[in-house]
Amino acid sequence: METGYIKGLSGKVDIKSLTLEELKQLIEDLGEKAFRAKQLYEWMHVKRARSYDDMTNIPKSLKEKLSENCDYVSLKSVMVQESQIDDTKKFLFALSDGNVIESVFMKYKFGVSVCISSQVGCRMGCKFCASTLDGVERNLLPSEMLDQIYSISEITGEKVSRVVVMGSGEPLDNYDNLLRFIKLLTDENGMNLGQRNLTVSTCGIVPNILRLAEENLSINLALSLHASNNDKRKELMPIANKYELSEVLDACRTYFEKTGRQLTFEYSLVGDVNDTDEDARELAQLLKGINAVVNLIPVNPIKERSYKPTDRTKALAFKNKLEKSRINVTIRREMGRDIDGACGQLRRRHLEEK
Ligand code: SAH
Repeated sequence: METGYIKGLSGKVDIKSLTLEELKQLIEDLGEKAFRAKQLYEWMHVKRARSYDDMTNIPKSLKEKLSENCDYVSLKSVMVQESQIDDTKKFLFALSDGNVIESVFMKYKFGVSVCISSQVGCRMGCKFCASTLDGVERNLLPSEMLDQIYSISEITGEKVSRVVVMGSGEPLDNYDNLLRFIKLLTDENGMNLGQRNLTVSTCGIVPNILRLAEENLSINLALSLHASNNDKRKELMPIANKYELSEVLDACRTYFEKTGRQLTFEYSLVGDVNDTDEDARELAQLLKGINAVVNLIPVNPIKERSYKPTDRTKALAFKNKLEKSRINVTIRREMGRDIDGACGQLRRRHLEEK
């Protein structure tokens, strides 16, 4: 058998991360008939089989060969937290190596969004973020990113219409797997999600934003900005020591020029840190002429840090100030406010309890 296939956690081929083309090659390597590849791909990505056992029209002998040579990723839901206010649900999934990750299901009038994790933990070190407190454990495989969506869709019985890569982890720190995930998720033979319905959020790894701009994709980019100048950004986000704000914004402009896709700047409002009138004025100046939406999110406090959210009145004043300078701005609608412990906290609590 060819050896170049993407590997799963056990060192075998990660079958759910293969493209249809690769799967055809694998089937040929195994000495099987070509049409089996399409059948298998459909079982994994359309009918969402949880294991080989579900694949009723695949012969036992082939299933045995596959078990021998391939890992089959299926996440196990270990905990669900449901909002009492709206239809938001937070899922804690177990991976086959015992790690756990979080994903969020959000139901809006116009459809269902799922927010997925891209790594176990994170190494970016943003000061207000719970996901990064213990660093990064490992990258998620493309199959593990996909299966968060497949599992949530199966458990809730809902069709997923939008996906945001905004959970734990830095997607552009797991670039190759992210790209493969995007190709599989948007493949017409698979789930076939429109690229325009996918958003990737990054803390601003400049070379990889530029790389992504060249991939000929039409996915949306969200940049975590959180400050209007370098010094303040460095205080909140260590990555700002590596890439200056001007470089990051240039990369965003390039992304927009190459793809024509909407840019979002995420700005977590942290009380008395980045929410003053002066911050708003400087932010408006900084973003002048950039085609983007600013998404203001009152910071979710985490117990390990003393940051507090900006109150509603002040957040509205901040928004008004930006609007006066003709910046497109929204305050993030708070979904599942009651279970909204900052992203990454469900996992931490679970680990602490163990
Ligand atoms: N690493 C990527 C994606 C994951 S974080 C990124 O940095 O964009 C998704 C968004 O949530 C980012 O904008 C991040 O800065 C923000 N975020 C993280 N912790 C938060 C908290 N406690 N309160 C509000 N926003 C937070």
